[in-house]
Amino acid sequence: MFQKMLIGGELVGKDKKKSRIKVINPATEKSFAAVPKGTKKDINKAVKAAKKAFPSWAATPIAKRQDIVNKMADVLADNADVLGRLMTKEQGKPMPEALGEIAWSEGYLRHYATLKPKGRTIQNDADFKIELRRVPLGVVAGICPWNFPILVPIWKIGPALVAGNTIVLKPAPTTPVTILKFFELCNKFVPAGVINIVTDENDLGPILTNHKDVAKVSFTGSCDTGKKIMASSAGTLKRVTLELGGNDAAIILPDVDVKATAAQIYGGAFLNAGQVCLAIKRVYAHEKIYDELCDELANIANGAVVGNGAHQGTTIGPIQNKAQYKKIKKFAKSARKDGKILSGGVAEKGKGYFVNPIIVRDVKDGDKIVDQEQFGPILPIIKYSDVNKISKKANKSEYGLGASVWSKSVAKATKVANTLEAGTVWVNQALNIGPHIPMAGFKGSGIGVEQSDEGLDEYSQVQVINIAK
Ligand code: NAD
Repeated sequence: MFQKMLIGGELVGKDKKKSRIKVINPATEKSFAAVPKGTKKDINKAVKAAKKAFPSWAATPIAKRQDIVNKMADVLADNADVLGRLMTKEQGKPMPEALGEIAWSEGYLRHYATLKPKGRTIQNDADFKIELRRVPLGVVAGICPWNFPILVPIWKIGPALVAGNTIVLKPAPTTPVTILKFFELCNKFVPAGVINIVTDENDLGPILTNHKDVAKVSFTGSCDTGKKIMASSAGTLKRVTLELGGNDAAIILPDVDVKATAAQIYGGAFLNAGQVCLAIKRVYAHEKIYDELCDELANIANGAVVGNGAHQGTTIGPIQNKAQYKKIKKFAKSARKDGKILSGGVAEKGKGYFVNPIIVRDVKDGDKIVDQEQFGPILPIIKYSDVNKISKKANKSEYGLGASVWSKSVAKATKVANTLEAGTVWVNQALNIGPHIPMAGFKGSGIGVEQSDEGLDEYSQVQVINIAK
């Protein structure tokens, strides 16, 4: 399978040995598809096409723009099976999770199709009429990671288009196929140049973020790359939205129902093999329930079915790529040194980047597995004794994406929740996100907001028209 790029409404790229990138199935380590190796020239062409398409797209009535976003949702619904299979092959996640991502993405698009940039009248009296308008920015660059190959691009494309911008999207180098296939299907009704997709070998991001004709960069990925993007956007004062990493703490108060809480914690930590920005990445469990919770989590982890996501019954697929797999191996090694492993481990034999879900106890703040973002299926459980001091401990992190607090008493949990430094704090739940709920990070977890009206605002410029009567 050779999947072409999309530039200016044309499917482009030649299937030649020198100019293609092999796409690897992480469950087999075999290549199952290829995409073109995009070049600087392709980025320039894509930005040019997006710039050309911008005036007429910005002038397209909002209802028509919303209609096109809705049609994109229809394509997902009509092709869920084909796209889901492709996603499982390239990303590794079990087929039900791939179908879940597609259904999720459809829902996000349907919601974006109800949004519109909101202006308002600031003053209208005998002397002045002052109106606030929201004006699209121009060409947006969307740069994406590999954990959600359709959902994260949709988080950028949907609002960018509804707000009247055009976009050049760069998928992660290891997950370009599903998104290209999706937009090949949408190419029948999306006007030429409104959406452009260029694939790369991790080398074209800076060319896009430095480009003088790109007005805004919407980035999801690691903190290190986020910092580079901010620096490279400075030259032309581009707007930036940065959705970066997290090291989300789950704080378990002493009064919980341990069994029920453990099941929810497990779900919030190991979805997509832990490769979720907002996954639970460290658990602070009160000493009263510490041993019981550790054992319960280990029990659940031991029941995981780790394997090829295409096989029925698999609950955890492989790590998405070799570089991340190596990173997880190092985390597992340091966790073994610093604490006690209760379940799981890295599968050393055979093909595929498999890791059985690891529960590690007796670790503490300062240990690598607690302080750093693992972004994989390893969960550290830290014991604490004083509920009044727990927020201070949890807040001692460079990140501040999400957090959760668990207790039979909503009041007690909410009291702790209010003292946490995180963009989203859940009480007695995890990973409840949606297109109507703003998503933002404190501290090193990002700049700006995605989703909801607040997220849409980031794709437009405020303009005031001030009329003297
Ligand atoms: P990454 O930062 O390595 O790569 C992300 C994207 O940036 C890729 O497309 C890559 O090619 C591109 N890129 C790399 N260097 C660049 C540069 N100098 N300029 C411009 N673009 C560049 O991240 P990753 O490994 O793909 O993803 C994992 C990270 O993403 C984790 O830290 C995770 O927490 C984070 N993430 C955050 C969210 C969120 O919404 N906050 C969602 C998913 C993932």
